[in-house]
Amino acid sequence: MIKINENYLKLEASYLFSNIAKKVAAFQETNPEKDIIRLGIGDVTRALPDACTHAFHTAIDEMSSDAGFRGYGPEQGYDFLRQAIAKNDFQARGADISADEIFVSDGAKCDSGNIQELFTTDAKIAIPDPVYPVYLDTNVMAGRTGNFEDGRYEGIIYLDATKENNYIPTLPDETPDLIYLCFPNNPTGATISKEGLKTWVDYAREHKALILFDAAYEAFIRDESLPKSIYEVEGAKEVAIEFRSFSKNAGFTGTRCAYTVVPRECAAFDAQGGKQLLHPLWNRRHCTKFNGVSYPVQRAAEAVYSEAGKAQTKNLVAGYLKNADHIASEMKNLGFSFEGGDNSPYIWIEANRDSWEFFDTLLTDAGVVCTPGAGFGKCGEGYIRLSAFNSYENVVEAMKRIKKALA
Ligand code: PLP
Repeated sequence: MIKINENYLKLEASYLFSNIAKKVAAFQETNPEKDIIRLGIGDVTRALPDACTHAFHTAIDEMSSDAGFRGYGPEQGYDFLRQAIAKNDFQARGADISADEIFVSDGAKCDSGNIQELFTTDAKIAIPDPVYPVYLDTNVMAGRTGNFEDGRYEGIIYLDATKENNYIPTLPDETPDLIYLCFPNNPTGATISKEGLKTWVDYAREHKALILFDAAYEAFIRDESLPKSIYEVEGAKEVAIEFRSFSKNAGFTGTRCAYTVVPRECAAFDAQGGKQLLHPLWNRRHCTKFNGVSYPVQRAAEAVYSEAGKAQTKNLVAGYLKNADHIASEMKNLGFSFEGGDNSPYIWIEANRDSWEFFDTLLTDAGVVCTPGAGFGKCGEGYIRLSAFNSYENVVEAMKRIKKALA
């Protein structure tokens, strides 16, 4: 008899965004004339940069001749892209990361979800609350948790990110083996200083733990003093894996390209306490279960690092940050407290009421979709997340409507 992985039955019945989609669809059905503005899901809305589409076209044309055709590429990514990433995203910022430590993939979602395969089932996991749900759900699927009770899974060390700690989790009382961190944060928009990040790196070194650092939103950092990569912190290479993505800086959410950095010296331990390097393990996993990102997509991603690509992606991000500024200033005028928006596309707003109730109010009275904070964890109750991923005109209109609805 074939049996299922019962860990899947522990998962919360419905995924946050499908719940939202259902509510929005039901509202649209009864209000077909209403023009709904979506500031909920974190998908980008603006076109790919010209430099990327140009490189994409050229690469597709190459594929149409036998001489230029490419079949299976290297699973880890083409060297042209890995070199461009290492040079521009790390070496240019003083982080000593080389091309062969970069694994190109089709998404930071898949990588941050799959990475936990490398670790034992009884590894103690520390996860922020509120959180990007992928970290949590993939560990539930793997059997690292008990049941979901009173808004939390048993067996997880939750790292509360609250107003009291400026939405930056403090070191836990119980020692974890694996620590998930995400800065700039989804959903709170909070950022961490180099000193703050060093506290975590030092802690991981002391406790033989490993940090999984999600930097999918690094492009939104305007404050030059903030680290964009964990490898800007001394000692991080031994204890941290970093996830990056072209989704939010260059609009690749549909095109799909991302990468994971596993430094050569990054290690975990075997049952005897012996040091085991993670680079060969992730390489083995990647080559066994993944067959590479398509050549045209990698050429399009490489174009992000051309002079034109750099200017165009900067402009793209600046447009979203202008939206974030507008949302932040309007919410401030309305008297709300919030985090984020300055170095992040997300604004995390204290709703001062139940977060799904506030979601319903904004949907029905303003025709604006937000994301209820409760969907990101227990600490998200009483909050909503507004996203800057929309056109400026829509953001201005949405804020006008919210102002009117809450008046
Ligand atoms: N990491 C975080 C924190 C995210 O918010 C998202 C997407 O919203 C991702 C990763 C997914 O990135 P990708 O599109 O590369 O899968």
